[in-house]
Amino acid sequence: MEAPLVEVKNLKKYFPKKSGLFGRKNSFVKAVDDVSFTINKGETLGLVGESGCGKSTTGRMLMRLLDPTEGEILFEGEEISSLNDNQIRDMRKEFQMVFQDPYASLNPRMKVGDIISEPLIIHGYPKEKREERVNKLLEVVGLSAYHADRYPHEFSGGQRQRIGIARALAVNPKLIIADEPVSALDVSIQSQILNLLKDIQDEFQLTYLFIAHDLSVVEHISDRVGVMYLGKIVELADKETLYQNPLHPYTKALISAVPIPNPRLRRERIILKGDIPSPSNPPSGCTFHTRCPFASDVCKKEIPKLREITSGHLVSCHLY
Ligand code: SF4
Repeated sequence: MEAPLVEVKNLKKYFPKKSGLFGRKNSFVKAVDDVSFTINKGETLGLVGESGCGKSTTGRMLMRLLDPTEGEILFEGEEISSLNDNQIRDMRKEFQMVFQDPYASLNPRMKVGDIISEPLIIHGYPKEKREERVNKLLEVVGLSAYHADRYPHEFSGGQRQRIGIARALAVNPKLIIADEPVSALDVSIQSQILNLLKDIQDEFQLTYLFIAHDLSVVEHISDRVGVMYLGKIVELADKETLYQNPLHPYTKALISAVPIPNPRLRRERIILKGDIPSPSNPPSGCTFHTRCPFASDVCKKEIPKLREITSGHLVSCHLY
């Protein structure tokens, strides 16, 4: 079997929290706490969970926009979490990011052609071929060559996200980390952007890490899905298994809230009690025990391991 494109092993990101009279760092926000997964070439791994669960921090560590506190990130078998800035700059053409807010991520003072050219310049793409490349990328994302001469504010939200995607594609990356790429867009535009991402996946031989809080959106695009809660992956499976047979009580609650397109079918909604606890002071044992309808004494004391229940279906829960 082919080696995965990305391997993440026991990844942690703890942010020091200053408190006390002299701002001493005496506690940590455990944004990502011992996360492991792989992403195979050509697949889309969705990472889903409520705001603050650590999914975006995980994506940013993969991009090396944040340094991990502990753990390993292997890209094509090479450990990248300890590379220095120069080494990372060279590697960065292999992995690109598409951000949530396409307006904030595009420089408003630059023309679209220059925005898309920027990574080409950084990575030494021949000057005489740049314009042709920009025009081709605009066409790939459903825009036209004449758009290169315009500024970001002249475009709609959906068009701006297309520009962000064209920029991400410019240097032929192998991995795209898409962090909530459609959550700022109208529902009608969301599916256009998701379909665009799917269409270009084969053409450009792309692998995606797709981060979102919306389970319907993740279902639409992902091959496998990991569910995160308070910095940990609590369930990971292929899309069909996860949506049709969720095992972790948290995943069950999230999926119960996803609308079913057929009005004759109803799903019983599971309402979780309480709010997500603070990652600076997570509950003992299973961090979900304060909200779980099935919590028992063991759940308060012992952290459940993420275990393979059936082939490719991993769950961290004492019930299994
Ligand atoms: Fe609920 Fe216990 Fe399973 Fe955690 S380990 S999800 S508290 S049953």
